[in-house]
Amino acid sequence: MKYALQLGKFFGIKVQIHWSFLILLSWIVISNVRSGSGTVQTLWSILFVLTIFLCVTLHEFGHALAAKRFGIKTKDITLLPIGGLARLESIPEKPREELIVAIAGPLVNIAIVLLLYPLIHFTTDITSTISSLTSITSQNFLFNLMFINLWLAIFNLIPAFPMDGGRVLRALLAFRLERHKATAIAARIGQMLAVGFIFLGFFSNPFLVLIGLFIFLGAQGETEYTQAKSMLKGYTVNDVIMKQYQTLSPNDTIKEAVALLLNGQSKSFLVIDNEQVLGTLNRDEIIKALSSEGENSSINHVMNKEIVALKAETPLEDAWQIIQQHKMLMPVYSYNQLIGTLDTENILEFIMIKNAESK
Ligand SMILES: [Zn+2]
Repeated sequence: MKYALQLGKFFGIKVQIHWSFLILLSWIVISNVRSGSGTVQTLWSILFVLTIFLCVTLHEFGHALAAKRFGIKTKDITLLPIGGLARLESIPEKPREELIVAIAGPLVNIAIVLLLYPLIHFTTDITSTISSLTSITSQNFLFNLMFINLWLAIFNLIPAFPMDGGRVLRALLAFRLERHKATAIAARIGQMLAVGFIFLGFFSNPFLVLIGLFIFLGAQGETEYTQAKSMLKGYTVNDVIMKQYQTLSPNDTIKEAVALLLNGQSKSFLVIDNEQVLGTLNRDEIIKALSSEGENSSINHVMNKEIVALKAETPLEDAWQIIQQHKMLMPVYSYNQLIGTLDTENILEFIMIKNAESK
């Protein structure tokens, strides 16, 4: 993710914080100043938010370390003002594994609650109430932290995608059903809940409307993704490969790339020299280069040098996952011989065709 500050590497996983986090911190300072709190009070509020985000990070590590047990790596963990995001390289598809990975996050928050509870019992005045961010003090700090962790656990266990609870529900259903059917049912339940939230939100808290919309869209995305994936089962990259593709040479100019773009159907091209793929160039990159570098600049300077190659025999489901992550044109090889290309559009067309055939 761009514009993120690296915090370090723990258990081999990069942890970073998004710049928009600064907005959250300034908002806390501003709202403290506006409510007339002093410096000490403001510092307590900031410390409180930072501690919450430490708990969110631990929640994400719950997922990441559980996934590691099943051989799934986590690329990085990013902290956003709305919460954390652990980017797992793939989602485990065995119900038992998905269940463990999904529930590990909320379990971390429950563990924190259980750890804090005895401390609060002895040190805090039990009459403490839930405080707003402008009234965190040394007396109510732990109590509020425990409450937030309880809330994080419950919120994440709402049985709807994209929450952890949605995955828990799907995993439980998938013990008895096919995965895409389990997903469809879990998504339907989640969407009914979402409609409930939206409806309730109109009469009480507008924040609930937002959560409802977020869940509704999440459920839809998950169903489409899983359905698409189930259609790809049994096929390989070779079945959808584009055998006719257009290429550019690194010494060609942007002008030549523009001509190629206007003359044909292709929107992205391989840059090849001596039968060696050196990079790719797509429509957006060509347009961008045209305005920033001018039409006589060479392709070599502007091409995307990151190359993700596929093998012809790779299962299409795996290729779909890779393409979702990289969203770019990929060269396809068979026995080290370049035989064609593949991009998102090829797979989407294939899914559309299969979809039409199955109706
Ligand atoms: Zn989670």
